[in-house]
Amino acid sequence: MAFQISASHIRAVSCMSSSMPRVRSDFQRAGVKFKHFFTLGGSPGSPQFGRTPVASPARGEVDAAIRAHRFSTTTAAGAPRKFVQANGSSLPRGRSGWLGKFALGAALGASTAALVQSFHTGVITAMSHKINLGSAEGDWKETKAFLLSLSLEDRRPYYRTSGSVSLVDIPVWTPTAGGSEPSRYQRNQKLDQKISVYSGDITMLEIDAIVNAANKTLLGGGGVDGAIHRAAGPLLKKECASLNGCETGEAKITCGYGLPAKYVIHTVGPIAQGGVGEQQRRALKSCYKNSLEAATSNAARSVAFPCISTGIYGYPPEQAVHEALAAVREFLDAHHDKLDRVIFCVFLPTDKELYLQNLPLYFPAETTVRSKL
Ligand code: ADP
Repeated sequence: MAFQISASHIRAVSCMSSSMPRVRSDFQRAGVKFKHFFTLGGSPGSPQFGRTPVASPARGEVDAAIRAHRFSTTTAAGAPRKFVQANGSSLPRGRSGWLGKFALGAALGASTAALVQSFHTGVITAMSHKINLGSAEGDWKETKAFLLSLSLEDRRPYYRTSGSVSLVDIPVWTPTAGGSEPSRYQRNQKLDQKISVYSGDITMLEIDAIVNAANKTLLGGGGVDGAIHRAAGPLLKKECASLNGCETGEAKITCGYGLPAKYVIHTVGPIAQGGVGEQQRRALKSCYKNSLEAATSNAARSVAFPCISTGIYGYPPEQAVHEALAAVREFLDAHHDKLDRVIFCVFLPTDKELYLQNLPLYFPAETTVRSKL
């Protein structure tokens, strides 16, 4: 076949990329530019394809990319000639596979950086053969490492939902004058820029992390929990099963799998059907605080919350909103540099009203704290 390349050639490039950090950083820099030359055809699943990533990959993700790279060099040659999409369907690949594209690049005298990038793209393509987000058969650890190694753009073809909503399309909240009650908090314009109220389905958000109002088993349930598990696909439940459940008020993080969100943070809200006491209040506030801690310790800079506990768990929404806003305000006061956006994702029009009414109490448009002097 015209575009065949020897195994020793592959090894040579592989060694070069692992023993020459300079070359590796070159190819990472060249990545965006050259990826389009060498990427296989096939339309990504989102209309926002090609937008700027919401966050740059963290160190751990780069390491994961390198791990995926190493792993894939051993599987590329034997990979089946089908491209399995995230929804489980298979498409025949084009005539020129990644090896062919790599050899073609060599023949045309492409630069080292471009060749190494071509190789890297081929490695991603080879790994993509193993990914089937519609099946519970896959290895969640391998899939997670692979998905977390991808840029936002490269992850888009794996979304199991269509019509995702990008962070740039979620407006920042505009501070408004509050009601009659004075705020306990100082005006802070930098923090105002980090808040959004978004009405809609949390599973559509293309951000770093969405929070799930889970139950203690973490194995899926009704409400927003069910919606998140359906959209992410069955590997989410597999990873959740490895976490040994979660206590009320705590939070645990997983990959987002087929979701546009990179991570899902699972938190367990208090059951408040018997009424709200101090214990429930504290637990609900902890859900928000611990979720934000899980996000920032995984370098997630944009996070969306549903109205935790206010559905099946029966917490009155007009009380829950205060715990949510106080927890987020206090966390941002302490860690504003670690987060770009916190989104209150409301599903019901009444919840939207509650958030808009109460936000000025926690993010006031002017300082209304009364001086003791
Ligand atoms: P809980 O058991 O913690 O009460 P629920 O899922 O029953 O959790 O409800 C929590 C909140 O999530 C409710 O306000 C509900 O309206 C909202 N909700 C349900 N589905 C979605 C969704 N797809 N996206 C965003 N919010 C949702």
